[in-house]
Amino acid sequence: MRIGIDLGGTKIEALAMDEHGEELTRHRVDTPRDDYDGTIAAMVGLVKLLESKTGRMGSVGAGIPGSISEKTGLVKNANSTWLNGRPLDKDLSSALGREVRIANDANCLAVSESTDGAAAGKRVVFGVILGTGCGGGVAIEGRVHAGPNGTGGEWGHNPLPWPTDEENPGPLCYCGKRGCMEMWVSGTGLARDYREMTGQQKTAREVIAAFEAGESEGVAAVDRLEDRLARGLATVINILDPDVFVLGGGLSLTKHLYESLPQRLPKFVFGGEVDTPILQAKFGDSSGVRGAAWLWPLAR
Ligand SMILES: [Zn+2]
Repeated sequence: MRIGIDLGGTKIEALAMDEHGEELTRHRVDTPRDDYDGTIAAMVGLVKLLESKTGRMGSVGAGIPGSISEKTGLVKNANSTWLNGRPLDKDLSSALGREVRIANDANCLAVSESTDGAAAGKRVVFGVILGTGCGGGVAIEGRVHAGPNGTGGEWGHNPLPWPTDEENPGPLCYCGKRGCMEMWVSGTGLARDYREMTGQQKTAREVIAAFEAGESEGVAAVDRLEDRLARGLATVINILDPDVFVLGGGLSLTKHLYESLPQRLPKFVFGGEVDTPILQAKFGDSSGVRGAAWLWPLAR
Protein backbone atom coordinates (compact mmCIF):
# COMPACT_ATOMS: atom_id res chain seq x y z
CA MET A 1 0.00 0.00 0.00
CA ARG A 2 1.17 3.54 -0.73
CA ILE A 3 0.19 6.55 1.35
CA GLY A 4 0.45 10.04 -0.06
CA ILE A 5 0.12 13.22 1.97
CA ASP A 6 -0.54 16.64 0.48
CA LEU A 7 0.50 19.29 2.96
CA GLY A 8 -1.37 22.42 1.96
CA GLY A 9 -1.57 25.82 3.60
CA THR A 10 -5.13 25.22 4.83
CA LYS A 11 -5.68 21.44 4.60
CA ILE A 12 -3.61 18.31 4.93
CA GLU A 13 -4.98 15.48 2.84
CA ALA A 14 -3.87 11.86 2.92
CA LEU A 15 -4.72 9.04 0.56
CA ALA A 16 -4.03 5.31 0.70
CA MET A 17 -3.90 3.43 -2.57
CA ASP A 18 -3.23 -0.15 -3.49
CA GLU A 19 -0.46 -1.43 -5.75
CA HIS A 20 -2.55 -0.67 -8.85
CA GLY A 21 -3.16 2.95 -7.90
CA GLU A 22 -6.75 2.32 -6.81
CA GLU A 23 -7.86 4.51 -3.96
CA LEU A 24 -8.54 2.61 -0.71
CA THR A 25 -9.39 5.49 1.58
CA ARG A 26 -8.61 9.13 2.21
CA HIS A 27 -8.98 11.71 4.94
CA ARG A 28 -8.27 15.41 5.39
CA VAL A 29 -7.74 17.68 8.36
CA ASP A 30 -7.12 21.39 8.84
CA THR A 31 -3.47 22.41 8.73
CA PRO A 32 -2.23 23.56 12.14
CA ARG A 33 -0.97 26.86 10.79
CA ASP A 34 2.20 28.32 12.31
CA ASP A 35 2.64 25.16 14.37
CA TYR A 36 5.45 22.89 13.19
CA ASP A 37 5.08 20.19 15.85
CA GLY A 38 1.33 20.23 15.33
CA THR A 39 1.84 19.80 11.59
CA ILE A 40 4.05 16.72 12.15
CA ALA A 41 1.52 15.31 14.63
CA ALA A 42 -1.34 15.85 12.15
CA MET A 43 0.58 14.05 9.38
CA VAL A 44 1.43 11.14 11.68
CA GLY A 45 -2.20 10.98 12.82
CA LEU A 46 -3.40 10.74 9.19
CA VAL A 47 -0.99 7.88 8.41
CA LYS A 48 -2.10 5.99 11.55
CA LEU A 49 -5.75 6.56 10.68
CA LEU A 50 -5.40 5.27 7.11
CA GLU A 51 -3.45 2.27 8.33
CA SER A 52 -6.02 1.38 10.94
CA LYS A 53 -8.87 1.81 8.40
CA THR A 54 -7.18 -0.48 5.86
CA GLY A 55 -5.38 -2.82 8.27
CA ARG A 56 -2.22 -2.42 6.17
CA MET A 57 1.14 -0.68 6.47
CA GLY A 58 2.09 1.75 3.73
CA SER A 59 5.06 3.53 2.26
CA VAL A 60 4.72 7.27 2.89
CA GLY A 61 5.40 10.16 0.52
CA ALA A 62 4.51 13.80 1.11
CA GLY A 63 4.13 16.80 -1.15
CA ILE A 64 4.93 20.15 0.40
CA PRO A 65 4.73 23.74 -0.84
CA GLY A 66 8.53 24.07 -0.87
CA SER A 67 11.53 21.79 -1.09
CA ILE A 68 14.20 20.17 1.06
CA SER A 69 17.64 21.71 0.58
CA GLU A 70 20.25 19.13 -0.47
CA LYS A 71 22.85 21.23 1.29
CA THR A 72 21.21 21.68 4.69
CA GLY A 73 18.47 19.02 4.75
CA LEU A 74 16.04 21.74 5.79
CA VAL A 75 12.84 22.96 4.15
CA LYS A 76 13.20 26.08 2.01
CA ASN A 77 10.95 28.17 -0.22
CA ALA A 78 7.73 27.11 1.52
CA ASN A 79 4.98 29.69 1.51
CA SER A 80 3.75 27.82 4.62
CA THR A 81 6.61 29.62 6.27
CA TRP A 82 6.58 27.73 9.59
CA LEU A 83 8.08 24.76 7.72
CA ASN A 84 11.12 26.71 6.51
CA GLY A 85 14.41 25.86 8.21
CA ARG A 86 13.00 22.60 9.63
CA PRO A 87 14.17 19.03 8.83
CA LEU A 88 10.66 17.89 7.95
CA ASP A 89 11.62 14.63 6.23
CA LYS A 90 13.85 13.54 9.12
CA ASP A 91 11.30 14.50 11.77
CA LEU A 92 8.46 12.79 9.95
CA SER A 93 10.58 9.69 9.25
CA SER A 94 11.53 9.34 12.89
CA ALA A 95 7.96 9.97 14.09
CA LEU A 96 6.70 7.23 11.77
CA GLY A 97 9.63 4.84 12.16
CA ARG A 98 10.19 4.54 8.41
CA GLU A 99 11.79 6.52 5.61
CA VAL A 100 9.45 9.18 4.25
CA ARG A 101 10.01 10.76 0.82
CA ILE A 102 9.19 14.44 0.41
CA ALA A 103 8.90 16.47 -2.77
CA ASN A 104 7.61 19.81 -3.92
CA ASP A 105 3.85 19.75 -4.54
CA ALA A 106 4.16 20.75 -8.20
CA ASN A 107 6.66 17.94 -8.70
CA CYS A 108 4.06 15.62 -7.17
CA LEU A 109 1.52 16.82 -9.75
CA ALA A 110 4.02 16.05 -12.53
CA VAL A 111 4.75 12.60 -11.07
CA SER A 112 1.07 11.76 -10.62
CA GLU A 113 0.06 12.80 -14.10
CA SER A 114 3.03 11.09 -15.69
CA THR A 115 2.42 7.84 -13.78
CA ASP A 116 -1.24 7.22 -14.55
CA GLY A 117 -2.77 10.58 -15.41
CA ALA A 118 -3.13 12.85 -18.43
CA ALA A 119 0.56 12.49 -19.31
CA ALA A 120 0.86 8.72 -18.86
CA GLY A 121 3.54 7.32 -21.15
CA LYS A 122 5.20 10.69 -21.76
CA ARG A 123 8.87 10.88 -20.85
CA VAL A 124 9.38 14.50 -19.80
CA VAL A 125 6.42 16.15 -18.10
CA PHE A 126 6.20 19.75 -16.96
CA GLY A 127 3.47 20.23 -14.35
CA VAL A 128 2.09 23.68 -13.60
CA ILE A 129 -0.08 24.49 -10.60
CA LEU A 130 -2.20 27.57 -11.25
CA GLY A 131 -3.75 27.98 -7.82
CA THR A 132 -3.57 30.74 -5.27
CA GLY A 133 0.08 30.89 -6.32
CA CYS A 134 1.88 29.38 -9.27
CA GLY A 135 4.26 26.46 -9.11
CA GLY A 136 6.00 24.24 -11.59
CA GLY A 137 7.59 20.81 -11.45
CA VAL A 138 9.33 18.33 -13.68
CA ALA A 139 8.97 14.56 -13.84
CA ILE A 140 11.21 12.45 -16.06
CA GLU A 141 10.05 8.87 -16.61
CA GLY A 142 7.70 9.19 -13.65
CA ARG A 143 10.37 10.39 -11.21
CA VAL A 144 10.83 13.82 -9.72
CA HIS A 145 13.56 15.89 -11.32
CA ALA A 146 14.39 18.31 -8.52
CA GLY A 147 18.02 18.98 -9.43
CA PRO A 148 21.02 19.65 -7.17
CA ASN A 149 19.43 22.83 -5.81
CA GLY A 150 15.94 21.40 -5.45
CA THR A 151 14.62 24.13 -7.71
CA GLY A 152 13.91 22.20 -10.93
CA GLY A 153 10.70 23.54 -12.44
CA GLU A 154 10.48 26.56 -10.09
CA TRP A 155 9.13 28.61 -12.88
CA GLY A 156 6.84 30.73 -10.72
CA HIS A 157 9.79 32.83 -9.61
CA ASN A 158 11.24 33.55 -13.00
CA PRO A 159 10.29 36.99 -14.25
CA LEU A 160 7.46 37.39 -16.73
CA PRO A 161 9.22 37.26 -20.12
CA TRP A 162 8.81 39.86 -22.89
CA PRO A 163 7.23 42.36 -20.48
CA THR A 164 5.44 45.39 -21.84
CA ASP A 165 6.25 48.81 -20.40
CA GLU A 166 3.20 48.54 -18.13
CA GLU A 167 4.32 45.13 -16.87
CA ASN A 168 7.82 46.27 -16.02
CA PRO A 169 9.18 45.92 -13.32
CA GLY A 170 6.01 44.23 -12.07
CA PRO A 171 4.63 43.73 -8.56
CA LEU A 172 6.81 42.85 -5.60
CA CYS A 173 6.80 39.12 -4.83
CA TYR A 174 7.12 37.55 -1.37
CA CYS A 175 10.44 36.04 -2.57
CA GLY A 176 11.90 39.57 -2.65
CA LYS A 177 12.02 40.03 -6.40
CA ARG A 178 9.72 41.90 -8.76
CA GLY A 179 7.60 40.68 -11.64
CA CYS A 180 7.71 36.94 -10.86
CA MET A 181 5.41 34.74 -12.97
CA GLU A 182 3.53 33.89 -9.76
CA MET A 183 2.52 37.54 -9.41
CA TRP A 184 0.81 37.34 -12.82
CA VAL A 185 -0.39 33.83 -13.59
CA SER A 186 -2.07 32.76 -10.36
CA GLY A 187 -5.46 33.28 -8.77
CA THR A 188 -3.98 36.07 -6.66
CA GLY A 189 -2.32 37.60 -9.72
CA LEU A 190 -5.48 37.51 -11.80
CA ALA A 191 -7.48 39.21 -9.05
CA ARG A 192 -4.80 41.89 -8.58
CA ASP A 193 -4.53 42.54 -12.32
CA TYR A 194 -8.30 42.88 -12.59
CA ARG A 195 -8.40 45.29 -9.66
CA GLU A 196 -5.60 47.44 -11.07
CA MET A 197 -7.10 47.60 -14.55
CA THR A 198 -10.74 48.14 -13.55
CA GLY A 199 -10.65 49.54 -10.02
CA GLN A 200 -13.04 46.74 -9.01
CA GLN A 201 -12.47 44.02 -6.46
CA LYS A 202 -13.22 40.49 -7.68
CA THR A 203 -11.88 37.09 -6.69
CA ALA A 204 -10.14 35.02 -9.39
CA ARG A 205 -13.21 32.81 -9.54
CA GLU A 206 -15.42 35.85 -10.13
CA VAL A 207 -13.11 37.13 -12.86
CA ILE A 208 -13.32 33.74 -14.60
CA ALA A 209 -17.11 33.80 -14.23
CA ALA A 210 -17.18 37.30 -15.80
CA PHE A 211 -15.05 35.98 -18.65
CA GLU A 212 -17.37 33.04 -19.19
CA ALA A 213 -20.38 35.37 -19.18
CA GLY A 214 -18.67 37.40 -21.93
CA GLU A 215 -18.27 40.56 -19.83
CA SER A 216 -15.68 42.73 -21.55
CA GLU A 217 -13.47 43.40 -18.52
CA GLY A 218 -13.41 39.71 -17.61
CA VAL A 219 -12.61 38.80 -21.22
CA ALA A 220 -9.76 41.32 -21.29
CA ALA A 221 -8.36 40.04 -17.98
CA VAL A 222 -8.34 36.41 -19.15
CA ASP A 223 -6.81 37.52 -22.46
CA ARG A 224 -3.92 39.11 -20.52
CA LEU A 225 -3.62 36.03 -18.32
CA GLU A 226 -3.43 33.71 -21.33
CA ASP A 227 -0.88 35.89 -23.10
CA ARG A 228 1.34 35.93 -19.99
CA LEU A 229 0.95 32.21 -19.48
CA ALA A 230 1.90 31.57 -23.11
CA ARG A 231 5.02 33.70 -22.72
CA GLY A 232 6.02 31.77 -19.58
CA LEU A 233 5.39 28.36 -21.15
CA ALA A 234 7.34 29.38 -24.27
CA THR A 235 10.46 29.91 -22.16
CA VAL A 236 10.00 26.45 -20.66
CA ILE A 237 9.85 25.02 -24.19
CA ASN A 238 12.97 26.95 -25.17
CA ILE A 239 14.89 25.48 -22.23
CA LEU A 240 13.46 22.02 -21.59
CA ASP A 241 11.08 21.29 -24.49
CA PRO A 242 8.98 18.87 -22.38
CA ASP A 243 6.83 16.24 -24.08
CA VAL A 244 3.71 17.66 -22.46
CA PHE A 245 2.43 20.35 -20.11
CA VAL A 246 -0.13 19.35 -17.49
CA LEU A 247 -2.02 22.11 -15.73
CA GLY A 248 -3.48 21.74 -12.24
CA GLY A 249 -4.92 24.11 -9.63
CA GLY A 250 -8.12 26.17 -9.68
CA LEU A 251 -7.36 28.20 -12.83
CA SER A 252 -6.62 25.00 -14.79
CA LEU A 253 -10.38 24.32 -14.82
CA THR A 254 -10.81 27.19 -17.31
CA LYS A 255 -11.42 25.23 -20.53
CA HIS A 256 -10.58 28.16 -22.76
CA LEU A 257 -6.88 27.87 -21.85
CA TYR A 258 -6.57 24.62 -23.78
CA GLU A 259 -7.86 26.18 -27.01
CA SER A 260 -6.08 29.47 -26.63
CA LEU A 261 -2.58 28.56 -25.40
CA PRO A 262 -1.59 26.36 -28.39
CA GLN A 263 -2.52 29.26 -30.69
CA ARG A 264 -0.53 31.78 -28.67
CA LEU A 265 2.67 29.77 -28.13
CA PRO A 266 4.23 29.86 -31.64
CA LYS A 267 4.60 33.64 -31.45
CA PHE A 268 7.04 33.23 -28.54
CA VAL A 269 8.77 29.87 -29.05
CA PHE A 270 12.07 30.03 -30.91
CA GLY A 271 11.44 28.99 -34.51
CA GLY A 272 7.69 29.19 -34.07
CA GLU A 273 7.12 25.45 -34.25
CA VAL A 274 5.05 24.06 -31.36
CA ASP A 275 3.39 20.67 -31.07
CA THR A 276 3.51 20.37 -27.29
CA PRO A 277 0.17 19.18 -25.88
CA ILE A 278 -1.24 21.26 -23.01
CA LEU A 279 -3.53 19.08 -20.92
CA GLN A 280 -5.70 19.45 -17.85
CA ALA A 281 -4.62 17.28 -14.91
CA LYS A 282 -6.67 14.08 -14.94
CA PHE A 283 -6.83 13.76 -11.17
CA GLY A 284 -7.55 17.43 -10.49
CA ASP A 285 -7.05 18.33 -6.84
CA SER A 286 -6.02 14.73 -6.10
CA SER A 287 -2.93 14.93 -8.26
CA GLY A 288 -0.81 16.23 -5.38
CA VAL A 289 -1.76 13.49 -2.97
CA ARG A 290 -1.49 10.77 -5.64
CA GLY A 291 1.90 12.03 -6.78
CA ALA A 292 3.11 12.01 -3.17
CA ALA A 293 2.08 8.34 -2.92
CA TRP A 294 3.87 7.60 -6.21
CA LEU A 295 7.13 9.01 -4.80
CA TRP A 296 7.68 5.37 -3.95
CA PRO A 297 7.52 4.26 -7.56
CA LEU A 298 6.70 0.89 -8.99
CA ALA A 299 9.66 -1.38 -9.58
CA ARG A 300 10.47 -1.08 -13.27
ZN1 LIG B 1 8.97 35.49 -6.57
